[in-house]
Amino acid sequence: MKVEVVAVGTELLLGQIVDTNSAWLGEQLALSGLDCTQQQTVGDNLGRITDALHLALERADAVLVCGGLGPTQDDITREAIASVMGTSLVTDDDVADRILEMFASRGRRMPPNNLRQALVPKGATAIADPQPGTAPGLVCPVGDKVIYAVPGVPFELQRIFEQAILPDLRARAGEPSVIRSRTLRTWGESESGLAERLAERIQELDDGPEGATLAFLASGIEGLKVRVTVKAGDAAAAVELLDAHEAGLRDLLGDLVFGVDGTSMEKAVADLLMERGLTLAVAESLTGGLVAFRLVSVAGASHWFRGGVVAYASDVKFDLLGVAEGPVVSESAAEAMASGVRKRLGADVGLSVTGVAGPDLQDGEKPGTVFMAVARTDGTEVVKVMLPGDRERVRQFACISLLDFLRRSLRGT
Ligand code: ATP
Ligand code: MG
Repeated sequence: MKVEVVAVGTELLLGQIVDTNSAWLGEQLALSGLDCTQQQTVGDNLGRITDALHLALERADAVLVCGGLGPTQDDITREAIASVMGTSLVTDDDVADRILEMFASRGRRMPPNNLRQALVPKGATAIADPQPGTAPGLVCPVGDKVIYAVPGVPFELQRIFEQAILPDLRARAGEPSVIRSRTLRTWGESESGLAERLAERIQELDDGPEGATLAFLASGIEGLKVRVTVKAGDAAAAVELLDAHEAGLRDLLGDLVFGVDGTSMEKAVADLLMERGLTLAVAESLTGGLVAFRLVSVAGASHWFRGGVVAYASDVKFDLLGVAEGPVVSESAAEAMASGVRKRLGADVGLSVTGVAGPDLQDGEKPGTVFMAVARTDGTEVVKVMLPGDRERVRQFACISLLDFLRRSLRGT
């Protein structure tokens, strides 16, 4: 069952309001296992709304048009639907009575325009609204297909969709089904590298009968996401499928995966520190406190986070952390910063990062050159990485790379 959403409103095209209705409807349709493969946005113009409805009816089984149902002259969705149905508008007496009653009960004079809301394409049904007086939704059969019309005001749209349209769509679709996604969050491999590792699996999914899909999403400091989406008869079956896909993907991706769905890198690190009963201190140069900022975003960070030193100036690295005088973008400086902050702040683990955010060279090193170290009771590990991008991206990538370095170091024990 394919459903297409058509959002009506010139103000949407002009960017004066953001089309949250289409986003909301897209999400609801997906959760109900209904395919929404295309959406359209169209201005308040009779010819163009009619064209959009014709096009949508060609490629979908049901069309959801939102907006343009109100009482004013620029609300012309019902005229467009009547034109597509090849019929005229007639007054729905029940709707007209409800509008008249509503005005009478509030002791207000009714502007004649309001009776426009009682006009319904011949052959269509007005959806009785539990809150009368506003534009009713419409169910408009077109051959074996259907157009649903809903008002543009988000809460009215949502109520009518949930109470009347979704049940009707479900009944038309026959078998109930749900769509669910799960996101594996990775670090340590490029997007194309991930695609290469998963190429065979993607092909299997494309050829398979299940209709499962894989998508990649580069999300900066949140890592590179691999999202798998499945369709199933009910929620429990969907979870079972997702579990199987997750296991298969983990086999292929190994410890590139640091978390699932809402699990951030800092949360993954926090869990490992808690598990091992270790405390952490950080010494940051080019990230200027970003690493500490991320770490304390995890609830309960006080259990394992001792604190951090933003050692930006070279003499702070020398005087406070015991780094030997010399180039501060170097392996030895990173090592000394990590063990220095570990001792200074009395932590089990010291973590450090020093490098060149750019745009200028420092200590003869190019922008994007970053040294990171982890110091523990039994020694220090240090690594050099070259990060891409401008100053901001280098700082962001340095932050997640550093946390990933710690995660791998902790997992190794
Ligand atoms: P009304 O009876 O209020 O005139 P309507 O069906 O004619 O309802 P519109 O006039 O198109 O709907 O929109 C009414 C209001 O609803 C807009 O001013 C806007 O605030 C909101 N709205 C309309 N379309 C959308 C949309 N696609 N996304 C978010 N909000 C919307
Ligand atoms: Mg309107």
